[in-house]
Amino acid sequence: MEHPFDPIVKMKDFGHENVYFFNDKATHLQGVIAIHNTVLGPALGGTRLWTYVNSFEALHDVLRLSRGMTYKSSAAGINLGGGKAVIMRHPEAKYDKAYWARYGEFVERLGGNYITAADVGTKTEFMRYIASSTSSVAGKPDDLGGGGDPSPVTAYGVYLGMKASAKKVYGNDGLEGKRVAVQGVGQVGRYLVGHLLKEGADVIIADINEDNIKATLALGSCQVVPPDAVYDQEMDIYAPCALGATLSEETIPRLQCSIIAGGANNQLKDEVEDVKRLQARDILYAPDFLINSGGVINCYIEVIGEYNRVKAFEGCERIYSRTEETLHYASTHGVSTQDAALALAQERIDKAKKLTE
Ligand code: NAD
Repeated sequence: MEHPFDPIVKMKDFGHENVYFFNDKATHLQGVIAIHNTVLGPALGGTRLWTYVNSFEALHDVLRLSRGMTYKSSAAGINLGGGKAVIMRHPEAKYDKAYWARYGEFVERLGGNYITAADVGTKTEFMRYIASSTSSVAGKPDDLGGGGDPSPVTAYGVYLGMKASAKKVYGNDGLEGKRVAVQGVGQVGRYLVGHLLKEGADVIIADINEDNIKATLALGSCQVVPPDAVYDQEMDIYAPCALGATLSEETIPRLQCSIIAGGANNQLKDEVEDVKRLQARDILYAPDFLINSGGVINCYIEVIGEYNRVKAFEGCERIYSRTEETLHYASTHGVSTQDAALALAQERIDKAKKLTE
């Protein structure tokens, strides 16, 4: 009988190309790199530093996340494949230069098939150390010619995806006077609020971190609501920009909006059931992996040549047309927007694969 968390079964299901374990006793470095698909290009995805109960849990996570990267890059229309790395936190690890340089050596062994970047638990500064032992790293600090913090680019893409969704629902993409609630005003959320205020939207914000609320209010006037009350606001657009899995059986019935368009990863708690719940309530859901792909676009600009932030913002502009295309596909094929985005991403990979056969 198959065990529900049997990593071998998951690997087979997801169709990964390669999975590598790495281990260095001297620095207490231990983790897994998963390359899901390289049809469109080298597999790019961040390195997550997390407390995992055991290596099976780490493996399960990296298989899921690397597959997500394949679809994110394809949906964004860039020539990158999907990969990811997870590192298991260790109580004795120092997370210093030696630690990250050792990790870079493992990345380097993959000969450019996997390009790493920052993710949850890792930051731009660590990329500097990783870069001392491999060139397969993106999101490096500015002084190393890297793209640095991708959040402004990510937020711009979310803003464009939101506008394309507004065009579909309201007939034009203007956000002036629209009530938009942003959950989580950290890096991405705050930059998004900046765009919304500039366009004259009526912005509601919620965060558990008072400092982030204060920093956001410095951008302009917003209505602040308690974190849990954000779901119950009368609003046109809801933008989840905090954690994943906040769209669920519990929250969807409370939402009074016509569009959901936010930057958080994996917003749907249950990809199948929550999509149905949103469809039943006639709420347009802008697929998260499509509209928050600005971060990976930022890495792509760094990988393909000399990094330039203007080019990264320009690269992000395609999110508008790709969102329009996805929403059109969903209505003409009678499928959910989530399934439409996945189908279009898969179509692009299949076409590229045919060219190489
Ligand atoms: P961040 O940590 O800077 O911001 C998250 C914010 O959410 C913080 O202010 C935090 O206090 C707040 N928050 C946490 N729990 C909350 C709750 N229950 N209610 C309200 N607020 C809450 O992170 P970020 O870089 O802005 O990323 C936000 C989301 O976007 C994450 O899901 C991330 O994976 C995703 N994402 C980020 C990027 C990027 O470029 N930074 C790219 C793609 C996706």
